[in-house]
Amino acid sequence: MQILHPFAGSVQQYAEQLADPDCYRPGYCPQCQTKHPLTAHGFYTRTLIDAAFDGIIRVRRYLCQACQRTVSLLPEFVLPYLRSSLTVIALFLIARLLGGQTLQSAAQTAPPPMPYQRGQFWIRRFRHQAAALCVALAAVAKPTPAPDFVSRALLMLESRGWIAAHRFLFASLRCHLLGWPRSLTPAGRRAALSPAGAPA
Ligand SMILES: [Zn+2]
Repeated sequence: MQILHPFAGSVQQYAEQLADPDCYRPGYCPQCQTKHPLTAHGFYTRTLIDAAFDGIIRVRRYLCQACQRTVSLLPEFVLPYLRSSLTVIALFLIARLLGGQTLQSAAQTAPPPMPYQRGQFWIRRFRHQAAALCVALAAVAKPTPAPDFVSRALLMLESRGWIAAHRFLFASLRCHLLGWPRSLTPAGRRAALSPAGAPA
């Protein structure tokens, strides 16, 4: 299971803080609710593309001794199963869907340079998710008059702040800002016997 690492600084600051397993050690198990601090259980690595970073980051894992399941602490600047940081994705979606830029020009607005097809994939997922986001975000952001769900969801994300909105959606509702990949069940848990999908 993935939960959020309550940290929103830079990628470098995140990497430095990872050295201390006690820093954000969960005090209870989010899966079986046992009230006992979890045991540090190594790391897994994932790729990350941010404005000034393109490489591998480590994600800390903890083990619950009661249910023997692991919990990983994902930094707030990434979305599960997506390589690009939330900031890069947000810049692209705003440029294309609110700013009316072409795909190519939006792809240049959101650094670093990327194939515009990657942005098209985000747009598809965002359009699909927009109505649900408007409903969910109404709890933390003022509904904004807008001609359609896509614009309204973007305006609400802008007013709340993308990372704060993601924290609320993910931590409280297990909702993925761009929707969970189809290989996963609604709360983001892997469906039985489903192969691990590569991040897009
Ligand atoms: Zn447990």
